[in-house]
Amino acid sequence: MKRLACPACGSNDIATFLYGMPMYTPELDRELEQGTVILGGCEITPDNPRWCCNSCNHLWGETLFSLSLKEAEKKEREKMKAAEERGVLEVATNSNNNVVTCPVCETKFKYTSKRSFKSGRHITCKTRLKIVKRDE
Ligand SMILES: [Zn+2]
Ligand SMILES: [Zn+2]
Repeated sequence: MKRLACPACGSNDIATFLYGMPMYTPELDRELEQGTVILGGCEITPDNPRWCCNSCNHLWGETLFSLSLKEAEKKEREKMKAAEERGVLEVATNSNNNVVTCPVCETKFKYTSKRSFKSGRHITCKTRLKIVKRDE
């Protein structure tokens, strides 16, 4: 593994921030003592730095929390884009229980439930659906 170096001063004396309520273990005690871990507090935001340079106090890096948040946002955007390209699809329903099967993701859902279907979109895949009631 390549040793982490401070982008500001090049030092290898780097501490990793630990966020949330720490579990105090002998190992953590040792790491805190050695300065390889710093407690970052319980407030977890996407702007939290991941590392701190012990030589010049430079803070940088994105936490795994921030990265996973960004990843989730990116996926959401991609889903939305794909859904927009699909346009509005018609879904026929002939049952009385308001359940339809999404033609895109094949999930069965109740179109009367706002958790599944909101503003004409299937929440799971974001596809815009037009519910066509078929009376039989
Ligand atoms: Zn530094
Ligand atoms: Zn769907």
